[in-house]
Amino acid sequence: MTETLMAYDDVLAAYDPALGLEVHVELNTASKMFCGCPAEFGGEPNAGVCPTCLGLPGAMPVVNGKAVESAIRIGLALNCQIAEWCRFARKNYFYPDMPKNFQTSQYDEPIAFDGWMDVDVDGETFRVEIERAHMEEDTGKSLHVGGATGRIHGADHSLVDYNRAGIPLIEIVTRPILGAGERAPEVARAYVAQLRELIVALGVSEARMDQGNLRADVNLSLSPKGSGVLGTRTETKNVNSFRSVERAVRYEMQRHAAILSGGGSILQETRHWHEDTGITTSGRAKSDAEDYRYFPEPDLVPVAPSREWVEELRGTLPENPTARRARLQAEWGFSDLEMRDTVGAGALGLVEETIAAGAAPQAARKWWLGELARRSNEDGVDLVDLPITPTDVARVQALVDEKVVNDKLARQVLEGVLAGEGTPDEVVEKRGLAVVSDDGALGAAVDKAIAANPDVADKIRDGKVAAAGALIGAVMKEMRGQADAGRVRELILEKLTV
Ligand SMILES: [Zn+2]
Repeated sequence: MTETLMAYDDVLAAYDPALGLEVHVELNTASKMFCGCPAEFGGEPNAGVCPTCLGLPGAMPVVNGKAVESAIRIGLALNCQIAEWCRFARKNYFYPDMPKNFQTSQYDEPIAFDGWMDVDVDGETFRVEIERAHMEEDTGKSLHVGGATGRIHGADHSLVDYNRAGIPLIEIVTRPILGAGERAPEVARAYVAQLRELIVALGVSEARMDQGNLRADVNLSLSPKGSGVLGTRTETKNVNSFRSVERAVRYEMQRHAAILSGGGSILQETRHWHEDTGITTSGRAKSDAEDYRYFPEPDLVPVAPSREWVEELRGTLPENPTARRARLQAEWGFSDLEMRDTVGAGALGLVEETIAAGAAPQAARKWWLGELARRSNEDGVDLVDLPITPTDVARVQALVDEKVVNDKLARQVLEGVLAGEGTPDEVVEKRGLAVVSDDGALGAAVDKAIAANPDVADKIRDGKVAAAGALIGAVMKEMRGQADAGRVRELILEKLTV
């Protein structure tokens, strides 16, 4: 089904966008939210389950203290108030991968509320207000077998794996984000990227979007320009990369505008994001008054974190992101533009780790924002999800510094690592990429190049040293790029100018 879209500039001329983001963070606690089962991904299906996370009659849940600690630290890092007393609630609905027939969540008493996060968008600060961060549990996973798409449509049958049921989640909900205008897609992307950075710095989750540790639901509505009246919103579920968050917002803005300008109205519903085609499709209708029959969970005691504990946890927070960016920029000597590009590409942490692994700041920036950014664009994945580590990148730069490979060959080393051929050293070995700086082999190639280009050689003999470039080129070609160009130049000049 093809939707009509309005050109982006026309959308902005007629409408103001309002964004809302709901991000689920899967915590990296050892055990689940309310039982002692391992909170691990994968493994033999239905091996990590017990009567509590299966919701068997009589099984009693117990709150995971480490998960509460992580929730409080996330709340504090988002400048939230921490509840003195709060409860869990049952959110009642049927879903085949939710064995209890209700989700234990928090309703009107979240653990953290009324916070904010300053988001850096192209060098300007945009404040996103946080309505709440609450604790809940994940559902299991359905696997639809026999269809072409893996979705339930067309499948022969479905299997359910409850290993994930009960893994602790924190849901972070923003207030409506207004005033972002044309930058709404970038603000959404930057918010999710910087929230992820914060979660990683807190060490409370693996925060891999491609693995579903961090999942974003993107709410969007449009209001007629200047009216201030919020329009009907749609909620695009489980968008799994920064890039897709940006694309989904842009797409929904263009889709809403086309419907509204044609006199239609927006259906309040969830939408599915399709990474391959870059579109959203209709999910299920959703009303604001959806009645989950929430009621306080009778099997769990309230959570009442003491103020002393909260202050103690405040002391464990990582450096605030704005201060951190300023410090790193000063340490690395990056210009404002270089820093902005690094943050914008979601590469701050990657560059930091690459430097920690031994690379010079400019070299680390060059690889992540150059060759690797190009690959991430081509493959449509975020930098952080490329199959290469900061340690690998630092090693590639070390190989350049040690003159084992030149810049051009280093690109082939990266390519090999990305293709799964092993570590940078293994790729150099397997592909035979090490440059030749041995004078014997180089000298022979230089002699050959001089013999083949007598006129160029004469120019150099006459003192036109700049002409050496042509001979260097001929030698590099002969050596298929695997020569130390600096040494080649020295040899040419030694042979022709002494
Ligand atoms: Zn369990």
